[in-house]
Amino acid sequence: MDNNCIFCKIAAGEIPSSTVYEDGEFRVIMDISPAAKGHCIILPKEHAANIFELSEETAGKIFAVAKKVATAMKEELGCEGINVLQNNGEAAGQTVFHVHMHLIPRYKGDGIQMHWTPQEAYDFAAVASAIAAKIQ
Ligand code: AMP
Ligand code: ZN
Repeated sequence: MDNNCIFCKIAAGEIPSSTVYEDGEFRVIMDISPAAKGHCIILPKEHAANIFELSEETAGKIFAVAKKVATAMKEELGCEGINVLQNNGEAAGQTVFHVHMHLIPRYKGDGIQMHWTPQEAYDFAAVASAIAAKIQ
């Protein structure tokens, strides 16, 4: 636990939150500035700033929590879709540096922006094999 980290304190229950789900390793809370009603964030109790620092064990479990909560959200909210979003680094839009996963309820025509302009094609095979060579 990082004593300077607000999400560590929330995950540990030291700061109250609207909790949707909790187990030994995660707490899922309502986002305080929601993109839509029901927008949740999954907080691992382990402090890691981002995906690069996250343990493989926790990384392996977080999507199971996402599935569990997303399923309940869909049933309760009646949303037509859910975005699972996870930002790493300021350049990627991360603002709280304790790794977390967003679950954002979506409805056709809801106006929430989450798109990019496709860039020109490049040498996909070369980049794929360069990245592949770095996988440990
Ligand atoms: P990100 O941009 O991926 O780092 O997202 C950080 C998210 O955390 C934002 O959607 C914030 O609204 C949310 N957030 C920040 N502080 C709190 C808090 N105290 N309780 C709940 N959500 C928070
Ligand atoms: Zn933390």
